[in-house]
Amino acid sequence: MQLANSSHTVCVPTLCNNMPSRAYLASFLIVTSFLSTTSHLHTLAAAGAFPESDDIFALDIVSKIRTDRNSTIKASMDFGHIVEAIPNGVLHPTSPNDIAALIRLSLSQPKPFTVAPRGQGHSARGQALAPGGVVVDMRSLGHDHHDAGRRCRRINVSTDELWVDVGGEQLWIDVLHTTLEHGLAPRVWTDYLHITVGGTLSNGGIGGQAFRHGPQISNVHELDVVTGTGDMVSCSPDKNSDLFFAALGGLGQFGVITRARIALERAPKRVLWVRLAYSDVPSFTGDQELLISKRSAGGFDYIEGQVQLNRTLTEGRRRSSSFFSASELDQLANLAHGTGSAAIYYIEGAMYYHGDDDTASSSSSAKLERLLEELSFVPGHAFVRDVSYVEFLDRVGRDEQKLRSAGVWDVPHPWLNLFVPRSRIVDFDAGVFKGILRDTKPVGLVLMYPMNRDRWDDRMTAATPDDDVFYAVGLLRSAVAAGDVEQLERENAAVLEFCHRERIGCKQYLPSHASRDGWRRHFGDKWSRFAALKRKYDPRAILSPGQGIFSAAGDGLTDRVASDSSL
Ligand SMILES: Cc1cc2nc3c(=O)[nH]c(=O)nc-3n(C[C@H](O)[C@H](O)[C@H](O)COP(=O)(O)OP(=O)(O)OC[C@H]3O[C@@H](n4cnc5c(N)ncnc54)[C@H](O)[C@@H]3O)c2cc1C
Repeated sequence: MQLANSSHTVCVPTLCNNMPSRAYLASFLIVTSFLSTTSHLHTLAAAGAFPESDDIFALDIVSKIRTDRNSTIKASMDFGHIVEAIPNGVLHPTSPNDIAALIRLSLSQPKPFTVAPRGQGHSARGQALAPGGVVVDMRSLGHDHHDAGRRCRRINVSTDELWVDVGGEQLWIDVLHTTLEHGLAPRVWTDYLHITVGGTLSNGGIGGQAFRHGPQISNVHELDVVTGTGDMVSCSPDKNSDLFFAALGGLGQFGVITRARIALERAPKRVLWVRLAYSDVPSFTGDQELLISKRSAGGFDYIEGQVQLNRTLTEGRRRSSSFFSASELDQLANLAHGTGSAAIYYIEGAMYYHGDDDTASSSSSAKLERLLEELSFVPGHAFVRDVSYVEFLDRVGRDEQKLRSAGVWDVPHPWLNLFVPRSRIVDFDAGVFKGILRDTKPVGLVLMYPMNRDRWDDRMTAATPDDDVFYAVGLLRSAVAAGDVEQLERENAAVLEFCHRERIGCKQYLPSHASRDGWRRHFGDKWSRFAALKRKYDPRAILSPGQGIFSAAGDGLTDRVASDSSL
């Protein structure tokens, strides 16, 4: 099962060799004293009581942990700016072995410290934080430590077998650029590409291609994982499959993903990027569901959708957006006025094409026209752009630059993402968009698009509703003024309360639950297996404590996990 036990593969770094062992042990003691919540480790080290290999290992790893305030503060917050928790140290690993060593160091203590891998820290509710523990700065794995820390891409493409091996720390934008050098690309993308492979695979990785290919976690052939027992394990659907499926959507609870083998397809050159406006929800959802039923040629290659709360369109000065011109926004505002309803909707679709000459472009346009004839959007409200594939995929990266220059990127993001069953989406729309959020002050985006559930493998940890089709609904709003966070959080709570009261059957995506019962409900039938695999792969519950599923290590959690287990 184990690929390589890290204690056999340790390479003692130069630093270690050059230092007099007494001086090194002294510095080790100073640094590790912060890690230990008891003086136990200290005492053992002073007495020379470490087994030899662990001793060298621990010394090596400690030299890569930063404890200065600057480092710990940076790792104490995430994109959400809602939860803050300071770790005691930040590990900058140079190889997956370092992560294994850190975990083993933790486990060697009577009260292990927690360990949180951090990709870009783009979680919204503290999921990548490690209060009082050690955050692993995964991005360090992608730096060449022999070349002044220059970025190195642990990305290797197989053009024959159509896959790419990617380090868990790599950004999807870098995966895109590297695979495109071979004319290939992964099949499913998140809307934003400046996040890590390990981070999205720990959640799901959803986007407009998921209706056809499933989420990113459905497009993985193999993983390398450092488990919460400090073992380095390779896994796939055929090998150590319980760990493979547990880690996919596993919220970082079973191990740290250090490599993923991801399926590729031939990359298109260009994209017809389309938005179609609707004034009523039945036409909007009817067309979306028709479109996601077209799984092969003839339909869109990407399907998402947005809810435009009318106040965004009808109040204030309208500027152009990254897609719409100012005059198109005026047209949408008139539509919004005309409906008298609280929201209008638009489908966002993309049709890929492979050539970059006029013939390819015109035959795609003809195909698009045929498709649009089947749909019921408001006449005259189809907007089309012809853009490069990269321009299309990196669209939110461009938005980020604009938001950064406007000073509204590093603000609190009390985001709420839900999966809503198709059978209740109209009730959800009535209760939420035309009810709870009707008069809200909207700053940000509201996404709403359907996916086919049969593209999700039920063996994976990720939780979905039961319907064959369910909608991803993202309330992606930003707090830009005093009091906004509280207001948005009240609205989020009201939405969750509504779903609960009306038995809508929603699941949170990028979930956050305050109680063990909340987590049990979230995982439903999968809970007992989830807990059993936790006991197997992270029995001291040290990994990704910011998810808040299991209590901090060493406080009796093992017993509770054990009692929840069925394996
Ligand atoms: C602007 C924006 C747009 C987004 N759009 C989408 C979208 O379209 N679709 C979508 O699915 N998501 C989207 N996301 C959410 C994104 O998938 C999550 O934020 C995700 O956590 C990835 O971010 P990250 O790499 O920074 O991970 P982090 O926030 O650093 O980590 C997330 C969790 O995974 C754990 N983790 C991190 N790395 C690893 C690893 N290698 N192995 C095991 N566990 C690990 C962490 O401990 C933490 O619990 C978006 C986020 C932002 C900010």
